[in-house]
Amino acid sequence: MSLVIRNARLRGRTDFVDIAIDNDRILTVRANLPASNGQTIDAAGSLVLSGLFNLHFHADKCLLGEIMRPNISGTLPEAIEITNDFKRKYDPTEVATRAVRAMEAGVMNGTTFFRLFADVGTIGGLQGARGLLLARDKMQMYCQVQVVAFPQEGIVRDPGAAELMDEAIKEGCDIIGGLPWYEYTDDDARRHIDICFDLAKKHDLDIHMLADDTDDPNSRSLEYLALKTMRESFQGRVVASHCGAMAGYNDVYAAKVVDMVATANMTISVNAHINLVCSARIDREPKRRGIARVKELLARGVNVITAQDDVNDPYYPFGKPDPIECASMIAHVAQLTLPNELEQVADMITVNSAKAARVSDYGIAPGMRADLVILGAPSVHEALRTQPPRRHVIKDGREVARASLKQELLV
Ligand SMILES: [Zn+2]
Repeated sequence: MSLVIRNARLRGRTDFVDIAIDNDRILTVRANLPASNGQTIDAAGSLVLSGLFNLHFHADKCLLGEIMRPNISGTLPEAIEITNDFKRKYDPTEVATRAVRAMEAGVMNGTTFFRLFADVGTIGGLQGARGLLLARDKMQMYCQVQVVAFPQEGIVRDPGAAELMDEAIKEGCDIIGGLPWYEYTDDDARRHIDICFDLAKKHDLDIHMLADDTDDPNSRSLEYLALKTMRESFQGRVVASHCGAMAGYNDVYAAKVVDMVATANMTISVNAHINLVCSARIDREPKRRGIARVKELLARGVNVITAQDDVNDPYYPFGKPDPIECASMIAHVAQLTLPNELEQVADMITVNSAKAARVSDYGIAPGMRADLVILGAPSVHEALRTQPPRRHVIKDGREVARASLKQELLV
């Protein structure tokens, strides 16, 4: 054994257990393991989770807020416009430096798996993707990384973007992105989705699109994405992020689309931080929240995840980034507050995300990958309430981050 974690509390259990790890795998999980020669970490009754996920992170744009003018309207179109000015000058090394800074913060918060979105289009070319592929190399000791070839300016309305996405995949991107709702017409949105599926089939890659990320209740990209997923037999391989238009769909149409999404075995990623800030800017009162219908999706058995979309960029000026904070945010915005609902929220940044990314060796059990986070809290409820320090973060059986800050009252 190379590492033993003692006195760990696991979800759904009341007793303490020890977790024995050998190299990058979990060997044994049971109470009172015998002494070993390897490193020992005393969890002291803290909750231990498998490594946390952030499956929707625009790391090529992170921290641009430090050097760019603020987004005065607060809307998505202005964010896109400001970023374009900068993307024309993208340099992969500079992109990687910012991405690594934000990912290091994420790792210290227990993230061991990132899906990074790289803008690919005629404005920035392949520079963003190259930067994130460089960041992936630099961070490989700390976390697993997938890079999405993401057409931020559309595909039909940005001629040349599809060819650049194809190139980005040849250079190492692993997921096909998409932004169909951003096209000018519904016909073009469907064409956009068709092109993404053509690329996914050509390279045998999964798909992660931003669907219906608009206040327009008539946006119809999620419906067609679900239909296409079924027709192309891509069940279990497609994630749709945001889907905030769902908040404005009429109830009958929403029920139909939720049913299609469930039948297509899709994942919906709700990135609450950015939508609470960017959506419904031109609503008077009552203001919509721009959030997908989480409870209806969960009730229909849809795999729902949550993620930190942005870290201090023209779209969103905050972002720690911390999956526990994301979980707390979705608990608030989707009103998930009962004990069983808090467990559903914890699933979104752990097992549901593992399912979305099709990671099969995930969990605290013998044979699974030894990616773990020891929280400074004894339960999911307390973790969501206090967002405690991540006492230890383990990646592939090795301790890669540790919290040392001790807060205490004086006087
Ligand atoms: Zn996004």
